[in-house]
Amino acid sequence: MSDCLFCKIVAGEIPSNKVYEDEVCFAFYDIDPQAPTHFLVIPKAHIGSAAEVDADNSTVVAHIFEVIAKVCKELGLESYRIVSNIGEQAGQSVHHLHFHVLSGRDMTWPPG
Ligand code: 5GP
Ligand code: ZN
Repeated sequence: MSDCLFCKIVAGEIPSNKVYEDEVCFAFYDIDPQAPTHFLVIPKAHIGSAAEVDADNSTVVAHIFEVIAKVCKELGLESYRIVSNIGEQAGQSVHHLHFHVLSGRDMTWPPG
């Protein structure tokens, strides 16, 4: 999608601090970290949010969860939280599916 911020990050048109990349997904540190470790994992192909996951694209989501487990092991993270916001009320500000991975501090429940 030509006017999508995260599609531009995948394309290298906007610089990012890369954590991991393969043919399916891209992971990079959040520009405004909410924990000592905070990175985002996104599909390279544009999907608007988790609400647009369906039978045709759900293998990408399974792959992303494999990648998160692998990258977190490599980073030595034993406890972390995975978050995906969907829609305005939940706090979604970028309309390209992304999973926040947050670690390195005590977390509260329920989330705010
Ligand atoms: P959302 O609010 O949609 O759940 O998450 C979007 C995230 O993208 C936010 O945590 C925000 O800080 C991050 N973000 C927005 N613009 C950029 C950017 O240009 N670069 C990086 N690395 N992160 C960004
Ligand atoms: Zn996009």
